[in-house]
Amino acid sequence: MSHNHEEQHLDALAINSFRKYLQISSVHPHVDYKGCVDFLQEQAKSLNLPIDVIYVEPDKPVIIITWTGQKPKLPSILLNSHMDVVPVYEDKWTYKPFEATVENGKIYARGTQDMKSVGIQYLEAIRRLKLAGVSFVRTIHICFVPDEEISGFIEVGMTLFVKTKKFKELNVGFSLDEGIASPSNHFTLFYGERCSIMINITCHGQTGHGSNLLPNTAGQKLSNILKKFSEFRKKQQNLLKENPSLTLGDVTSVNVTKLSGGIKMNVLPAELKVVIDCRLAVTEDLEEWKKTVIGWCQEAGKDVDVEFKHVLPQVPVTKLDNSNPYWAPFSEAINELGIEIKPQIFSAGTDSQLLRQEGIPAIGFSPINNTPVLLHDHDEYLGIDTFLKGIDIYCGIIKKIANLEA
Ligand SMILES: [Zn+2]
Repeated sequence: MSHNHEEQHLDALAINSFRKYLQISSVHPHVDYKGCVDFLQEQAKSLNLPIDVIYVEPDKPVIIITWTGQKPKLPSILLNSHMDVVPVYEDKWTYKPFEATVENGKIYARGTQDMKSVGIQYLEAIRRLKLAGVSFVRTIHICFVPDEEISGFIEVGMTLFVKTKKFKELNVGFSLDEGIASPSNHFTLFYGERCSIMINITCHGQTGHGSNLLPNTAGQKLSNILKKFSEFRKKQQNLLKENPSLTLGDVTSVNVTKLSGGIKMNVLPAELKVVIDCRLAVTEDLEEWKKTVIGWCQEAGKDVDVEFKHVLPQVPVTKLDNSNPYWAPFSEAINELGIEIKPQIFSAGTDSQLLRQEGIPAIGFSPINNTPVLLHDHDEYLGIDTFLKGIDIYCGIIKKIANLEA
């Protein structure tokens, strides 16, 4: 085959694999991981690479395809993606969400952006690099994990995997995982995440008839507390408004997500509860923030209980400078590819944070630009050209980071 023919053949193969993977219904709540395992076993076979399937829970596989480097003792490169996708409102979709319909140069399916594209792009980049006859200093693990979409306050998927012996054996030095599509020409890159804290506040108070004007009521305390959060929230919104270079990840968000209490319309309640979903900016100190909230609760009146729930402590961001040895080869690749990236703090949570907590530098990056952000949305799609370009981008990045000498 001529060079051009071979490229066309590889492109067709990549699109075909992508569509096949999208057609596996790995959607919550009944995810077909068996289908994913079978599919990835075929992929590993076609790449002539060893594959390992371990179960972090019954029917919850982690799949690792490995390309051993020339110096296998050096810390490895982890190319991570999750296999699961979020549910769909099928009646809101123009095309069937698990058929991977190709229309006007785009593929429509749940998971095209989040994040089956990335999983296939890793594999197809590896295929191309292997065909080119190159080999690398470092071992590369292409890893597929379950249940990212339901992780957080329950321990599943990557949370369990990082605690296994198998994970330690991978000796991961640097990790790549999902980012988000960018509607502009630049690509977004995530090097940290905010600390997610659920603040449970219970206001106890004087009970009695609803017609009174008694002191020390739960309602008045709750109102004082909400006023503090509301003022703080306004300040954070203003920070964003005043400085267009800031993104949501740079500030702290607070939102009332649950309210409960009271027994009867004309009875003063013994307690009222509120839950506040808080995502603390990486520039803030968690302990200081807790003190602030406790202070607000104390000022609101006596008998206010506050409880902070968070899965992870405040995790340091991945450094994008010379203190992170993987950054130089990564940014060199970006320069050579001639693409523009915008480093940001992720506003929600991904598996990268679990790796950062293990002390592993981790970057969230999905090579999707000039595309609306449609993760978890109806009619999620990815342009075929964008998808194919992403494979080239990973080839460029992998070549550099997997060749980083000690
Ligand atoms: Zn995702």
